[in-house]
Amino acid sequence: MGHADLYAQRWNGEPVVYDRTISPAAEARPPSLEQYVSEKYTLPSDWKVFRWQAHGEKETGFSTLTGAVVTETYKTGKRKGLPKWSARDKSTELQISIPQTDFKLWIQQWESETGLCHQCLGCGLEWVGWSKRDGCRYGKCRNCGGSGTRPA
Ligand SMILES: [Zn+2]
Repeated sequence: MGHADLYAQRWNGEPVVYDRTISPAAEARPPSLEQYVSEKYTLPSDWKVFRWQAHGEKETGFSTLTGAVVTETYKTGKRKGLPKWSARDKSTELQISIPQTDFKLWIQQWESETGLCHQCLGCGLEWVGWSKRDGCRYGKCRNCGGSGTRPA
């Protein structure tokens, strides 16, 4: 089923229901830079990133993450429940640079270990656009062809 099929269903009057259920394995171990550094440097689970920076080209550049252990959250207000960075443990503050090439290798490893597609996290769909009338629209993930599994 391609993007065109999803539109066809919509025009036929049937609402399109997208099943974007993320695989539990991907939820527990997301294929993110944050997860990569926490595994590589065996960081505690309450060590969180508060600054992401990208340098150079997408393929050959690197990312710099800065984080620290933060256990306090805002109790009230608009930011309720979010980490209170001003109360972070400064002795755990760490800046880590990750070459894109290293991260890509880890992503390949992640896919072979989980059997999932890192792009759609196993649901087989990716975002293709938004319109006022239909809201967010999704189509077949181009990385895995909609299977949700690791591309061969
Ligand atoms: Zn996919």
